[in-house]
Amino acid sequence: MSDSGLGFSLNRFIGLMVLIAVITLLFEWVSDFGGGLIKAQVEQTTSKYDPDKNIDKRIEPVVVLSNEVVVASASEDLSLLDSNNFVAEDSCQQTIEGNDMLQFNLKEMVVSSTCEEITITLVHTGAMPANVMGHNWVLTTSSDFMPVAQEGGAAGAENAYVPVDDNRVLAASAVIGGGEETAVTFSSSVLEVGGDYTFFCSFPGHYAVMKGAFKVV
Ligand code: ZN
Repeated sequence: MSDSGLGFSLNRFIGLMVLIAVITLLFEWVSDFGGGLIKAQVEQTTSKYDPDKNIDKRIEPVVVLSNEVVVASASEDLSLLDSNNFVAEDSCQQTIEGNDMLQFNLKEMVVSSTCEEITITLVHTGAMPANVMGHNWVLTTSSDFMPVAQEGGAAGAENAYVPVDDNRVLAASAVIGGGEETAVTFSSSVLEVGGDYTFFCSFPGHYAVMKGAFKVV
């Protein structure tokens, strides 16, 4: 019975050792697994390990929030139009429309003094020909507007209804008819910030209604 008792003890001892080994391995596996989970989380939420790794999986709530705030404030705060360089850059090239009803589609145009050159594109959205319903875009100071408009009408179609060699004329486009388009580009050096300017059509009789304020900010 002593043999069987020893055998029993040996078996129990071997079994105990195997059990300890299995538990140890299991514990290490669980530890690795848990540690791996934590490491993966860290890699996905920070750039500690590799700045380019998991870039698609990363959660970026701070960036999204700040983008939304910037866009919202830029589009809602209209006071930025007067001082924002982004808007000023856009205003160096502008388009205005004239139609068969003696109308410009703008009563006021604003450009930035940061523009070196200003290009005004005139589009005639009507259908009537230039000799009947011609339009142009002329710029003068507001005090020169009336005399230049009247002298322009007298200068005739051959001079595009603009006084010849007249330095009161700061800019003047060609005269166009319905369906046509023209553009005039001029240097901002002829303009002063805060100056009082008027744009108008100098086709005879049109300046009374086809005119507007031109501002430099
Ligand atoms: Zn006109």
